Amino acid sequence: MNKIIDGKAIAQQIKDECREKVAQLKDKGNKFTLAVVLVGSDPASTVYVKNKKKACEYIGIDSLSYELPEESSEEELLKLVEELNTNEKVTGILVQLPLPKHIDEDKIISAIDPNKDVDCFHPMNIGNLSIGRPGFLPCTPAGIIELLKRSDIEIAGKECVVIGRSNIVGKPMALLLLRENATITIAHSKTKDLANVTKRADILIVAVGRPKMITAEYVKEDAVVIDVGIHRDDNGKLCGDVDFMSVAPLCSAITPVPGGVGPMTIAMLLSNCIV
Ligand code: NAD
Repeated sequence: MNKIIDGKAIAQQIKDECREKVAQLKDKGNKFTLAVVLVGSDPASTVYVKNKKKACEYIGIDSLSYELPEESSEEELLKLVEELNTNEKVTGILVQLPLPKHIDEDKIISAIDPNKDVDCFHPMNIGNLSIGRPGFLPCTPAGIIELLKRSDIEIAGKECVVIGRSNIVGKPMALLLLRENATITIAHSKTKDLANVTKRADILIVAVGRPKMITAEYVKEDAVVIDVGIHRDDNGKLCGDVDFMSVAPLCSAITPVPGGVGPMTIAMLLSNCIV
């Protein structure tokens, strides 16, 4: 196993598998269309949306773009979601987050037809996940499970610590690790003596949202470290929540930023689009 986990290469494998599956399903008459909704012109969101549409094109599925102005009302967005829910051609709906502050994200997510919720944010899909029913998988956490499995890192029976308890990463990550029979601890902003907790981890997943916060003092020797964070440092270079230079020498495997978890999120979104 390479010490540096190549998320870009593993994501490419998954995209190629999706492309093959789409070709086979097309022969049987199955077609997929992802509707991508962007409200406003946040630069990061605009790039994410562009990349998602490009990825759809790569695997051979259609995508439709809906770009609404920043000042659009919650009612207007709800109306669009409702139209997409009932549009039979549309098989997946993605509303790019974050939404402008005057729009209630929870309300929008809950309005998406759970059967078209390819981001797996809808309460029904998260509920299904938590009681072990089949269905969509949350993209970033599912991408991390794939990274571990395809790097031959065993999960069952391992001590896993997840730093972060967000609805998008931390909580669903813990659920997926539990499903893989790991022993899980979730650490968060109120956790006391964080280093004492994280040093127990055979597999440490960091989704804390603070640039380079996790240094060698937080990591057990030979642990596997997965860095979910994405930031720009003072020099404008991309970095993660983990201080790579400090942690890499002591762990057995680590994901870089960029080229680790990031590419996996889109790959898993594509997988969800073709189920
Ligand atoms: P968030 O801000 O919603 O959650 C951060 C979590 O960290 C919170 O649950 C909080 O309790 C915890 N936390 C904050 N400070 C802490 C501290 N000092 N000690 C311990 N815990 C602390 O963030 P998120 O949406 O879960 O995202 C986390 C990071 O991952 C961000 O950098 C985000 O940009 C990135 N992200 C990357 C991808 C990807 O595809 N690679 C996807 C989603 C999020």
